[in-house]
Amino acid sequence: MTEKIEMKTPLVEMDGDEMTRVIWRLVKDELILPFINLKTEYYDLGLENRDKTDDEVTLESANAARRLGVAVKCATITPNTERMTEYHLKRLYPSPNATIRAVIGGTVFRAPIIAPDMKRYIPTWKKPIVIARHAYGDVYKNVEAYVPAGGRAELLVTDADGNEKKLPIHCFSGGGVVQGMHNTDESIEGFARACFEYSLSERLDLWFGVKDTISKTYDRRFRDIFDKIYEDEYKARFESAGISYFYTLIDDAAARVVRSEGGFVWAMKNYDGDVMSDLLASAYGCLSMMTSVLVSPEGIYEYEAAHGTVQRHFYKYLKGETTSTNPTATIFAWTGALRKRGELDGISELKAWADGIESALLKTIEDGEMTGDLYAVTENPSAVKVSTEEFIRGIRRRYEKSVFCR
Ligand code: NAP
Ligand code: MG
Repeated sequence: MTEKIEMKTPLVEMDGDEMTRVIWRLVKDELILPFINLKTEYYDLGLENRDKTDDEVTLESANAARRLGVAVKCATITPNTERMTEYHLKRLYPSPNATIRAVIGGTVFRAPIIAPDMKRYIPTWKKPIVIARHAYGDVYKNVEAYVPAGGRAELLVTDADGNEKKLPIHCFSGGGVVQGMHNTDESIEGFARACFEYSLSERLDLWFGVKDTISKTYDRRFRDIFDKIYEDEYKARFESAGISYFYTLIDDAAARVVRSEGGFVWAMKNYDGDVMSDLLASAYGCLSMMTSVLVSPEGIYEYEAAHGTVQRHFYKYLKGETTSTNPTATIFAWTGALRKRGELDGISELKAWADGIESALLKTIEDGEMTGDLYAVTENPSAVKVSTEEFIRGIRRRYEKSVFCR
């Protein structure tokens, strides 16, 4: 048995709910603790503890991420009224992800994990397309109203000195709707820097598209900020890394993406990113094979799976039935976070562990051992469906073989 890997700085560990909480424990016991002297600052974001702490624990975990730089998060329940009854909650807490994003800021990057022999809905996509979604403003922070017939809508902007500028929107002969939305230079600049930094760290080209032919001030502002930051701060670094920044209209980008081979970062405004993440996740095969990382302009990283707590499987688990839930995205959240910790602390063994676990996972699928969701879309005729635990133990076996039988 070789020595366990030692860590320097603790990782911020944010535990969560339901089936992903069960998987969290299994992943730690089978794939992490036997190989690493794991150092974490642990925060329990499970709904019961959020309720017990009046959601203070979520805020504390986000502040810990700001302090320590790298966090790994388990999927959590965003309570609705049914959950309020189920968990006897004191109140309806906000989504933990929204709370964390408000503290850390930044951009969410989502990347598919491409496994061997899976049905590809777009067969030309050979490499992952990473979506960078701006996580502030636009239609998600809008104000809107129904305007009855005969009404009039105007946009009123008052500057710091009280000067008013009034722009007519529409005179309604019949009823209609009106909407106001905003974004800020600071947020767009942070978004742009996070995209340029991520592309550099992954050595991937960056594509960006908005509709600036139609929206000549609003969308144009996004394009101008990206162009300026690229020219002033990143052009030379991109050139020496051998990668490029490419701007095109959002509809042209969508058309080119379908014809591409993949292998780049696609940055989008909030709404475009919302729509396109679901399209990409489905086109690559499964929601359970999508990772997600929040990157702030100051270089804080929070890794998680893109899927939720897989509630339906958890209820089966509670009844003692065998589950076949896919732990891949949760495992990649841990490998991503520990690899980043290793990179920041100069511990190459952590990177080697992360690479080794990820290859062992893909090898398990390649060998035809997989969870139900993958089994449903595999093109491997000799594939077998295994349980959540069997899949994780299969990864451990292959990892140990690769490390100890060299
Ligand atoms: P979900 O947990 O993503 O699951 C939806 C369905 O997708 C599952 O029922 C399952 O399909 C399939 N699926 C997702 N992940 C899978 C995996 N790892 N392995 C196998 N199948 C998987 O979404 P949900 O059921 O709508 O939401 C459950 C809870 O998660 C909610 O309370 C929601 O608030 C929360 N949520 C949290 C986050 C987050 O923390 N980032 C994100 C989204 C949702 P089948 O049932 O057909 O097998
Ligand atoms: Mg969506």
